[in-house]
Amino acid sequence: MRIIVCDNYDLLSKKAAQIVGSQMILNPKSILGLATGSTPIGMYKNLIKMYEEGLIDFSKTTTFNLDEYYQLPINNDQSYHYFMDENLFNHININRENIHIPNGMADDIDAECVLYDKMIDDNGIDIQVLGIGNNAHIGFNEPTINFNKGTHIVTLDESTREANARFFNSLDEVPTKAITMGTGSIFKSKKILLLASGANKAEAIYNTVHGKVTPEVPSSILQFHKDVIIILDKEAASLLNENDYELMSEFVKTK
Ligand code: PGA
Repeated sequence: MRIIVCDNYDLLSKKAAQIVGSQMILNPKSILGLATGSTPIGMYKNLIKMYEEGLIDFSKTTTFNLDEYYQLPINNDQSYHYFMDENLFNHININRENIHIPNGMADDIDAECVLYDKMIDDNGIDIQVLGIGNNAHIGFNEPTINFNKGTHIVTLDESTREANARFFNSLDEVPTKAITMGTGSIFKSKKILLLASGANKAEAIYNTVHGKVTPEVPSSILQFHKDVIIILDKEAASLLNENDYELMSEFVKTK
């Protein structure tokens, strides 16, 4: 694991966008695994800026998102389809046919899970972006779910629903289930980029890096992946030892 600690969220976002952008420059046909949640929003803003400046081109890029709420219509402003349009896809030149997000409204949800994994297997994800939950979930793989799972339906932990309630009018409105790539699907990605910001992620990050590898800590499986980069702000890194990571201060001159 390579761990980079940035002075603040803005630098974390720039660094993450540089890594994803570099992948796209090296291979314009890159297959990107994307995440929702508040953490990657700054990275998406930087990728949009890089696109507007002509540094990167999404016309041949393919994307696979990690997850979607179960039975939340995609035009609901809390759906992850809506989130991705608002925060990235509406602002870039991606071919809509190349966007993949699990369909939580599918009539046959089991078939949807099988199909989603087949598409991931057929394409192969070059770089998978991850956030992390306070409970160390990645995607919506909640603690105790088997590491070898492919895409599946999950019942959300109460702690996850409570963490996400800030986006809804009330806790009651937060869906109880979601469709998510499994840790098995995520683990197949060639490179994994995990982002975390804020003191409320510090314990999950400590356990990811130093804890026992156990389904109780879903992100701990990343200790066994051959190419993982973790980018943190100082608060999320606060429980790590200084020799665990590289420290990045202002490293990009912006206009
Ligand atoms: P957050 O969510 O980026 O909004 O903190 C991350 C997650 O729950 O995976």
